[in-house]
Amino acid sequence: MSDVEPISWRCEICRGQIADGEGGIYADIVAADRVRRDRLKWDAEVRPTATIADFLNRPKSVDWHAVHARCHPDPDTASYLIEVDQLRSPWDILSMTSYLMGKTWLESTNWSILIGGLARDHVAKVPPT
Ligand SMILES: [Zn+2]
Repeated sequence: MSDVEPISWRCEICRGQIADGEGGIYADIVAADRVRRDRLKWDAEVRPTATIADFLNRPKSVDWHAVHARCHPDPDTASYLIEVDQLRSPWDILSMTSYLMGKTWLESTNWSILIGGLARDHVAKVPPT
């Protein structure tokens, strides 16, 4: 069985592959910190008759975006950027996740959805043994 294929990243702006040194993934951490604080307030509110619609109003996560450095729509934004060369293998992702878990804003981003998607894509590519 071949080893794990490197994780590829595609730019959300131009749709091209992002080679090492050409870009990374970023999240607006100022927005994520605002979501974190808004969720604390939202979660503290008592809702004795909460409906599913109420839960849909919980402050939404901030998305991670994959972009080439040259395509970045707002390079001045207060974003946290991870170069793609640090995100090529499942071990890279595990290591980065461990590191990011020390950040207060991580849970206010869609990191768990992002890495869950990578894992599902990998499982879909690997034939059963
Ligand atoms: Zn691009």
